[in-house]
This record gives sequence, structure tokens and C-alpha cells, in this order.
Amino acid sequence: MTDRYAVIGNPVAHSRSPSIHAAFARQTGEDLVYGRIEAPLAGFAEAVAQFRGEGGRGLNVTLPFKVEAAALATRLTARARKAGAVNTLKFDGDEALGDNTDGAGLVADVTGRLGVAIEGRRVLLIGAGGAAYGVAGPLLDEHPAELCIVNRTAAKARALAALHTRGGAVVAGGLGDVAGRSFDVIVNATAASLAGEPLPVPASVFASASLAYDLVYADLPTAFMRYASERGAARVSDGLGMLVAQAAESFFVWRGVRPRIAPVIAQWRPDAGPAGNVGSR
Ligand code: NAP
Repeated sequence: MTDRYAVIGNPVAHSRSPSIHAAFARQTGEDLVYGRIEAPLAGFAEAVAQFRGEGGRGLNVTLPFKVEAAALATRLTARARKAGAVNTLKFDGDEALGDNTDGAGLVADVTGRLGVAIEGRRVLLIGAGGAAYGVAGPLLDEHPAELCIVNRTAAKARALAALHTRGGAVVAGGLGDVAGRSFDVIVNATAASLAGEPLPVPASVFASASLAYDLVYADLPTAFMRYASERGAARVSDGLGMLVAQAAESFFVWRGVRPRIAPVIAQWRPDAGPAGNVGSR
């Protein structure tokens, strides 16, 4: 019988996950179908139970259910526990394994597709919401010289940094606290670009940056990409590569097969070459 997977969220109509996983299945020859489930805001657990009852094998979980999914899992991977949120559920009998592949997706896109090292570099992570919680641990696993976390609400950045006390390499504060400082890799994990708003981050941070990466994805350069580029970042990228790479990691969790990412990115960015929506100055 063909195995069933789906993305669950609210809203979920815009999700690109069904088309990404359909492409992975074609590429790898895996026998699966992948749909989408819009769960009522107060009906996440019921929707998951119904899907499992119908033989569903796994789910990608998106806003606003990632924290609820962590509570529903019977076992969490270490990276999901650290993130406090789950974007991948795998069902096996009574077990519901909860994983978080967002950080692995970001690291794969930055160090793999874009070829930018994190090890030994000064990394600035902007934001302290769900996405920042997902990527902070995997960024630290790459052994940056420093991980600085800043957020509009500084207390949230400090709370996230407090989860990652590793030899003093993690510092945190408000957006203005990095004035006069510069970083090698800058990751925007805020939703500011969705509103088309530039971030009030001091210009100095971009002056010697080899990469400014926006988790938001869009066909045109985002507000953050333009802002970073104008202030000196050598390269900028949106988050489409991360989206495809985190999906590939989920596919691996479910199927034990790792699909290739570049051909799937090329589906949406046929003219941009293997690097997708990447700009250089
Ligand atoms: P979230 O939990 O709602 O957090 C939002 C974050 O953005 C908070 O840090 C918030 O700061 C900050 N923020 C929002 N508007 C801002 C503004 N105008 N100026 C400054 N800061 C602002 O959302 P999330 O789940 O972390 O998602 C963040 C973004 O990442 C979303 O756009 C999402 O689409 C994207 N994302 C992409 C991928 C991918 O695969 N590419 C994966 C996951 C998420 P405060 O704490 O001060 O409110």
C-alpha cells in the first residue's frame, strides 16, 4: 500500500511542501503520497489522530502547531528537545517520534549549497521566535567562534541564549546592542521581511559579512537581503534552499533515503542556477 504523509498547519494552502515531497518521491522512486491538512486552531490533536487512524506514516508540522506537536510526540530527538518545537512527526505503531529539521536545513543550505563555513566564524542570529529556537542549536554544533543572538524583544533573545550555555560563546541582547560590531555570517530568523519591513539592525554588522541569509523566501530579493547588500554584505540569500533542505531531512527521517536538493530548488528558480535566489555585490 502507498505510504501517506502530509503537511499540517493553519493556514496551509500556501505550503510548498506537497510539491517538494512529490519531487523527492519521483527522484528517489519512493512509493508515497503527500497531502495537506488544515487543522482547526483548537483541533490539532484530533486531526493528527484521524490521520494516524487512516494509516498515515508521518507529518510535517507548520505554524501554529509546532509546540503542540512536541507535546504530542512520545519521543523527541535531541534537536527537537532543544528547539522545544517539532516540524516532523514519524508514526510507527504506538510511537510518534518528534524531530526538528529546520536547523539541519539551514546549515545544509549555508555550508553545502552556498559553500559558506560557520566553523570559527562570528555568527549573528536575529530573532528569538520558533525559527530561531530551531536553528540556534544546529548553528552551535558547527562550532562558530561566537553566536550572538539579538531580538526586537531583548529578553526573548536572552532566554534563548540561556538554553545554550557553551563556554561563553553565546551572547544575547537587543537589535541595537551590536552597534559597532561586525559578523561573518548573519541569519535573519525574524518575520520582518514578510511585512516588507527592513530591520533596525546597525549597518556596521554587515560591513565584512560573507553572507546575510534571510529565512523568509520570495521570488524577489527580500527587504532584509536588499538592506544587507546595501550595507556591505558580500552575498545574500533567501530561505528557499533551507525550506527544501529541511524537507529533505524530514524525507530522510521517514524513508532513510536522502534526496538531492538542487534539482528541486531549480524547479522554482530555473534561471538562477544551482544557487537559487542568491545575490553578490
Ligand atoms: P515567530 O515565532 O512568530 O517569531 C517572529 C520573530 O520575528 C520574533 O523574533 C519577532 O520579534 C520578530 N519580528 C517580527 N516582526 C518584526 C519586526 N517588524 N521587526 C523586528 N522583529 C520582528 O515566527 P517564526 O516561526 O520564528 O518564523 C520567523 C520567520 O522564519 C517566518 O517568516 C517564517 O516564514 C520563516 N521560516 C522559514 C523557514 C524556511 O525553511 N525557510 C523555516 C521556518 C521559518 P519579537 O520577539 O520582538 O516579537
